[in-house]
Amino acid sequence: MGHGFRARIARVGDVLRDHQRAIRRLQWAIVGVYVFLLAVPAILPLPDRTASVFNNLTILAQFAFWGVWWPFVLVSIPLFGRAWCGLFCPEGALTEWASGHGRGGAIPHWMRWGGWPFVAFALTTIYGQLVSVYQYPWAAAAVLGGSTVAAMIIGWLYGREKRVWCKYLCPVSGVFNLLAKLAPWHYRVDPHAWRRPVRRIESINCAPLLPLRHMKGAAECHMCGRCSDYRGAIALSARSPEAEIVGVAEGDGWQTALIVFGLMGLAVGAFLWSASPWFVTIKQTAATWLVEHDVYWPLAQNAPWFILTHYPEVNDSFSWLDGAVVLVFIAGAALCVGGPVFAGLWLADRILPARRRPGVLDASGRLLRGRLAGVHKLAQGLIPAGGVGVFLGLSATTLTLLHHEGVPTGWANAVRFLLLGLALAWSLRFEWRLAGLRCRRWPVRATAVGMVGLGLAPFCVAWVLFFAVW
Ligand code: SF4
Repeated sequence: MGHGFRARIARVGDVLRDHQRAIRRLQWAIVGVYVFLLAVPAILPLPDRTASVFNNLTILAQFAFWGVWWPFVLVSIPLFGRAWCGLFCPEGALTEWASGHGRGGAIPHWMRWGGWPFVAFALTTIYGQLVSVYQYPWAAAAVLGGSTVAAMIIGWLYGREKRVWCKYLCPVSGVFNLLAKLAPWHYRVDPHAWRRPVRRIESINCAPLLPLRHMKGAAECHMCGRCSDYRGAIALSARSPEAEIVGVAEGDGWQTALIVFGLMGLAVGAFLWSASPWFVTIKQTAATWLVEHDVYWPLAQNAPWFILTHYPEVNDSFSWLDGAVVLVFIAGAALCVGGPVFAGLWLADRILPARRRPGVLDASGRLLRGRLAGVHKLAQGLIPAGGVGVFLGLSATTLTLLHHEGVPTGWANAVRFLLLGLALAWSLRFEWRLAGLRCRRWPVRATAVGMVGLGLAPFCVAWVLFFAVW
C-alpha cells in the first residue's frame, strides 16, 4: 500500500477529528428528522389502500425507516465500519448528550453481562413481529421510541459523555459488532509510536469506552475519528476485509449464539412466518383442537396493540393464538435452521486438530478456555452469510413498498440469489482459511469446510422457500 494512499486515508480520520462540532450539528438534524418521522405518523389516522409514499406521511415514514434506513445502515457497517453509530445515529447522539448532563454513575455489574447483545436482539426482533413494527406507526414508536428513551435514561444514569447504552445494551450493537469485523477500515494503533515520549497528552473521549492502546479491530469502534493521530500512534487505515476475522477475532459463546441462532435462525423465522403456508397449517390445526376442546379465549383478538397487533379498523388484529404460533414458528426456525448450522461447526471443529494455543485471548484480553473455543472461531466465518440473510429479509420490506408504488421488482430474485451465493461463498472461504490455521492438509480442511457447508443447507432452503416457492 503506497505511502500517499495511507496518508490520505489517515487524513480522513483527522478531518473527522477536527470537525466534531459539525458532526454534532448533523446528529441533531438527524435527531429532528427521526423524532418527526416517529411521532407525527403516530398521531395521524392509519393510511388507506390508496395512500402512497408521495402523499402520505405515514407511508413515507414507513419507507424511510424500514425500506431505506434499517437495511442500508446494515449494509454500511461492513463497508465503513460502525461509522453510522459514531457519526449519524440519533440514539447514540442522544444517549451521549444525556450522559453529558446526567448523574455520571459507575456502570453496574449486571450491564456487563455478555448475553445482552443476543437477548436484546432476540427480544426486539420477536416483539417487533408481535406488534407488526414494519406496518404500524404506533408499533414503530413503541419499539424505536422505547429504545431511544431507554438509551437516554441509561445515558443519564451512567458514564460521563459516554455511550454506555451503545456498548452494552443497544439491541443492534451485537449485530453491528459482528458486521464491522468485515470493514476494510479501522483505527490502527502503532504500539511503537505509542511508547514514544510525548510532550503533552490531551485526553480523548472515546464514547464507547474502548481501551485505545490495546484496540485491535473495528468491532467496537464507532469510527468517530476523535482519537485520530492520538500520540501520533492511531490512524484510520485500510486493511483486508478478512484480516479481523482470521487474525484477531476469537468469538465467544454469545457471539456464536447471535450468529447461529440469532442471525441465521431467529431472524429467518421472523422474516418467513408471514409468508409461510406452514404457519397457516399450524394455526389452523391448533385452532381446530382448541374449538374441539371448548377452549375459546386464545381465539379472541382482544390484546392491546402494544402486546399484539390490534387494528380492527383495518381488519388486522392478532388473536392470542396468532401470537403464540408466531413465537412457536420463530423458535422452531431458530432450532431447525440454527441447529444444523451449529452441528456443522461442531463437526468441523472435531475434524480439525486441536488449536495449537488452547488458551487464546479474546478481544478484551480474557482467556478463552472453553471446549467450544474452536467452534466460536469457526462461527466468525459465517458472519457474511448471516449478515446477508438479515439484509435480504429487511429488503423484502423495501421491495414490497416499492412494488406498492408501482416500481417493477421482477429483477429482485436474481439479485437476491446472487447476493446470497456470494455471501455463502465468502463464508466458506473464511472457513477454509480458519481451518487452515489449524491444519494445512487440504483433505482435512475440505472435509471440515464441507461439514459447515452441509450445516448451512437448511438456511439456504429457507431463503429459497421464501423467495421462490411461497
Ligand atoms: S476508538 Fe473510540 S475515539 Fe477512536 S474512532 Fe473509535 S470510537 Fe472514536
